[in-house]
Amino acid sequence: MNNRIDKLAELFESFPGIGRRQARRFVYYLLHKDQGYINELVAGIQNVKAEINQCSECYRFFPKNGSLVCEVCTQAKDSKQLAIVEKDADFENLHKTHVYDGKYFILGGFINANEKKRSYARVDTLIKRIERDTASGALDEVIFALSISPEAEHTRIRLYTMLRDEFPNLTFSTLGRGLSTGTELEYSDTETLKYAFKSRIQQ
Ligand SMILES: [Zn+2]
Repeated sequence: MNNRIDKLAELFESFPGIGRRQARRFVYYLLHKDQGYINELVAGIQNVKAEINQCSECYRFFPKNGSLVCEVCTQAKDSKQLAIVEKDADFENLHKTHVYDGKYFILGGFINANEKKRSYARVDTLIKRIERDTASGALDEVIFALSISPEAEHTRIRLYTMLRDEFPNLTFSTLGRGLSTGTELEYSDTETLKYAFKSRIQQ
């Protein structure tokens, strides 16, 4: 009888940051909701999957528009700057400051300091992208627009070391003053982020 509950709880447990107990709380929460809510939730999940694309350039999610490339990448096609951010929410926060109108790349995670742990960071894809853009003269500067945390710092240093050796003609920079340790880019206010971006430090 409880198999259905276990099965659904298992699905929730695969969500980022959700443990077994929370997953079961979600199931019981849903059991208390009326059918209208359930239908809306199911339709919402199906619609998001059907109507949202992942950009083949920056890897962010955007509403399907008949193109493989999002409008931000299309507008930035002549820019020679590439900002590396961890996730879609970071992209959104930086983009809305209007301080930067160059290209983006969503890394999708950090490089884990423990090499045995799985990392979701798209490192190989990033390197291929930079190879392509430098070969065509479409890239001068790589900007590390990452949060301030040990994982982000580890990722930045690893990427910088890798890229500096492979692409000696590129300029590398990182967000400057204003962001303190433990700062999540996603939650930084616009003015702070603007300032950090403008005062970015060349490496
Ligand atoms: Zn894009």
